[in-house]
Amino acid sequence: MIRSSSAFLLALLLSSAAMATPRWGTEAHDRLAAAPGAPATPVAITLDACGGAFDASLIQTLVDLRVPATIFVTKKWLDHNPAGTAVLLAHPDLFELEDHGTSHMPAVIGKDRRIYGIPAAPDAAHVEAEVAGAAQAIRTLTGRAPVYFRGATAIYDAQSLQIIRAMGYQVAGFSVNADAGATLPEADIAARLRAVRPGDIVIAHMNKPAGATAEAFAATLPQLLARGYRFVTLSGARLQPV
Ligand SMILES: [Zn+2]
Repeated sequence: MIRSSSAFLLALLLSSAAMATPRWGTEAHDRLAAAPGAPATPVAITLDACGGAFDASLIQTLVDLRVPATIFVTKKWLDHNPAGTAVLLAHPDLFELEDHGTSHMPAVIGKDRRIYGIPAAPDAAHVEAEVAGAAQAIRTLTGRAPVYFRGATAIYDAQSLQIIRAMGYQVAGFSVNADAGATLPEADIAARLRAVRPGDIVIAHMNKPAGATAEAFAATLPQLLARGYRFVTLSGARLQPV
């Protein structure tokens, strides 16, 4: 009895923490728009590479299963992970690189503001530099300019959104937070992945190999494929805010 009530309290705490929206901006949520006349709407897997390392096992699973993914990379991650970058570049048919910022600074402006503990951008120029630096790095590596931007923490204020859009980028939200920054246990990530529906944009992380993200994807992706799910990258898809 005591055990179950403390488990309930813990669940309550965790769910209220997950739902807490930082007061300086809003989280961007999108799904894939259904194409008229097309068969079932596909699913998009997006993997963030904030900083940190390369989850080779997660990427290998996608390669083995021929499941494409949109990889949101920071310039910081690219600079520190040349071997991981080479693996991504070796599979241009599967992996599309998009912009996750130069140094993983949130797209929220305000000197004293913090988003999940990460200092916000001190001014508009820093937001511009955050977008432009990673975009240039991706162009240099791939010869292709990114079309999507996802800021660190996926929280945006109105001024940053205006800057990002004026620079020609579309903000990429998501509809399923699969791994909460690669912090969840494997069973929880797997449960969230099994609940994915056509049109969902899944966010997970490929920069924390010590987390359980790779194991959960390896266990559940074959099940989703067996259900007939089709996976696409974001370029060529149309996003619909939710
Ligand atoms: Zn990130």
